[in-house]
Amino acid sequence: MNNDLKALFPALNQTLDGYPLCYLDTAATSQKPAQVLEAMDSFYRQHNANVHRAAHQLSARATSAYETVRDSLKEFIGAAQSNEIIFTSGTTQSINMLAWGLTSQLHQGDVILVDSAAHHANIVPWQELAKRSGAEVVPIPLTADLRLDIQAYQKQLDTLPVRIVALAHVSNVLGTVNDIKALSAMAKAKGALVAVDGAQAIAHHKVNVVKLGCDFYSFSSHKMYGPSGVGVLWGCYQELDKLEPMLTGGEMIDTVSFDGTCFGQLPNRLEAGTPPIVEVIGLGAALKFIKELPVEAFDHEQQMLNLLQQRLAQLPQVELYGAHQDNTGAVAFNLKGEHHQDVGILLDQQGIAIRCGHHCAQPLMQIMQISGCCRASVGVYTSREDIDRFITALEDAIDLLG
Ligand code: PMP
Repeated sequence: MNNDLKALFPALNQTLDGYPLCYLDTAATSQKPAQVLEAMDSFYRQHNANVHRAAHQLSARATSAYETVRDSLKEFIGAAQSNEIIFTSGTTQSINMLAWGLTSQLHQGDVILVDSAAHHANIVPWQELAKRSGAEVVPIPLTADLRLDIQAYQKQLDTLPVRIVALAHVSNVLGTVNDIKALSAMAKAKGALVAVDGAQAIAHHKVNVVKLGCDFYSFSSHKMYGPSGVGVLWGCYQELDKLEPMLTGGEMIDTVSFDGTCFGQLPNRLEAGTPPIVEVIGLGAALKFIKELPVEAFDHEQQMLNLLQQRLAQLPQVELYGAHQDNTGAVAFNLKGEHHQDVGILLDQQGIAIRCGHHCAQPLMQIMQISGCCRASVGVYTSREDIDRFITALEDAIDLLG
């Protein structure tokens, strides 16, 4: 079944130096099915116009297509209202907008708790917010098996003046999953806001933001089979409406005069300027693709991840990091005594694409006491053959590196 799926992704059907591409870097960006490419192409060819502004028919068509995707996203993540969906350029912009927008709500001495395994995109904006407001960023510790330390987190909530909790839904390095529902409930009991980075969860989990109980949820289209250049910041209306806009200008206003400007309503208030229109259309096609996938496609993907974990665990030269049965999407490892980059280069010589480095998670690397690691990650198109080829190439690398 996954081989049929693979055929839908043009970029996966190619060879590199005579080897068929084996793409195990979906956590960095997913490949795009033909229907996403076709939706974007046909929008530019037939419907292209700016949204919201003009009275003409083409603009009305473009606006309707653009707003329809907002409605689909509302359904997709179980939001209460479409105007809680803000289009951004991706997770990084979503979290920056959020941290900027909260500036006047934070004060000297307030604490922002941040997941120690977070991506830099979910750390640096909070550090900048702390600089602007006098608040303090405090990391939430991890347990020895690299999961969030719930007891330490509860203690932090009990003893510190926590205003914001910033969590990853799924770690982009380890694939470990945070129980957002439980962690949100703990934070809400103390009156803190909960901001979740869903970049690595959105393509793999059925996300329902209301059930998760968080206040904000960010993700990128390009990690969910859609195009790059677009992402989403979701916020519950009450909290989203309090955010100050980071970007100001056209589209986000109600009235402008040299005596002063009145901002418009959500969602426009947080979408200044011409949005990434065709990328939103592509994201709409990606949502349709995901919604039409049979549930077995996701079961298969999870099996492929578990198979990767098992096969790696059988190699004595491999050090696995934070591998748990319930992880999502990615597995992190090193070859003992070898540099992660060397492993990546050797695999690439056989057409196998994995990621090596610190994965924009330097604090996590510091906790793990490594400079970097290899990460193999899966999507719905990953096949058993991909895993076999990866393991064989890794065994070759082990032999070669001696
Ligand atoms: N958070 C996580 C967990 C990620 O994996 C990524 C992408 N690597 C980001 C944030 C940043 O996403 P983007 O580059 O699409 O803004």
